Amino acid sequence: MQRNTFQKRLVLDVLRKMANHPSAEMVYESVHKDCPTISKATVYRILKEEATCGELLGIDVPKDVHRYDHRTDKHWHIRCRVCGKVGDVELLAGYDLDNYDFPDVWEAERMSVSFEGICPECKITKEKA
Ligand SMILES: [Zn+2]
Ligand SMILES: [Zn+2]
Repeated sequence: MQRNTFQKRLVLDVLRKMANHPSAEMVYESVHKDCPTISKATVYRILKEEATCGELLGIDVPKDVHRYDHRTDKHWHIRCRVCGKVGDVELLAGYDLDNYDFPDVWEAERMSVSFEGICPECKITKEKA
């Protein structure tokens, strides 16, 4: 129990520090540096469990691996089509499910929006080229 709590805190701390929407693999690599005894299966399990209970956010980015976010408030994501970096997109107005007209009988439960574009670093590289 004690040990599980320690590992859980470690994983959540690393995710918060990384703040770059890492994949489970990236989180594992970073956690492993601080705590070489932790297994990959444990890190993956903690991420999955914490995403289920809302301590962190699991995000699906099109054309990319599943990623994790320490932010759990409502926001969307934008992925750089060049380097694959993922940034946060803030909501300026309500994107409620109420604003959409769903087909008969369908019941929408959740929505997620992702954008694709170019990040500032890649934009600079492109302009120099
Ligand atoms: Zn980029
Ligand atoms: Zn995010």
